[in-house]
Amino acid sequence: MRKHIVAGNWKMNNDLAQTQALISDLKKQKQTSSAEVMIAPAFTNLWSAFESLRQNSIEVVAQNMHFAANGAYTGEVSAAMLKSIGVSTVILGHSERRAYFNETDELLAKKVDAALANDMRVIFCFGEELADRKSGAQEQVVESQIKNALFHLDASAFEQIVLAYEPVWAIGTGETASPEQAQDMHAFIRKTLNDTYGSAVADEVSILYGGSVKPDNAKEIFSKPDVDGGLIGGASLKAEDFFAIVNAF
Ligand code: 13P
Repeated sequence: MRKHIVAGNWKMNNDLAQTQALISDLKKQKQTSSAEVMIAPAFTNLWSAFESLRQNSIEVVAQNMHFAANGAYTGEVSAAMLKSIGVSTVILGHSERRAYFNETDELLAKKVDAALANDMRVIFCFGEELADRKSGAQEQVVESQIKNALFHLDASAFEQIVLAYEPVWAIGTGETASPEQAQDMHAFIRKTLNDTYGSAVADEVSILYGGSVKPDNAKEIFSKPDVDGGLIGGASLKAEDFFAIVNAF
């Protein structure tokens, strides 16, 4: 059985006090689904978030990391640093990292390798831009993003990988992919995995959808057979909304 996962990507939101306030609200929510729940606060608040959630099933994950173990990389954070504060899952390849920080598939392959070498789980994000969708190139774009960053891995590495399809045109825009568009793409991704790695990998990897998931559309999106959860931006910043999505399974 594939895991259902709902992860909140807080992006560059919430200072320390706001992080603690939101976590305290999250702890008051009641989970009625069996989905794994994760939140990704900013680097500065990871440790405090981890401490506050020690006795809680909500996992604290990072939004990014560097591929090197240590060294002269001003402003960066390594996998070992994250591990040392109890963080063992990292989001890599978010479209905002690709667009604003020039992260390429080649760089992301190195980050994925570094995360796996440190026994971290990776939530690997990818997705087409609006122009790709308009020209009908979305599958080609997604296939090359996945293949370039991940297909050098052994099949066993996929036990540590969660995929997150986030069409760029649906992020923060209020425009969601329709449940059918999400399902079609997720099925295509699973087929791509199956073609190279076989069903043992393809059937086990959780594929999340991200892009304007809200309490009022989550249920329909999550009802699709190849959608195993969501990566939630804006709606993860309010505890009630986030848990309405968590409980949409
Ligand atoms: P929104 O839910 O705000 O569209 O953001 C999605 C996202 O980028 C999650 O990583």
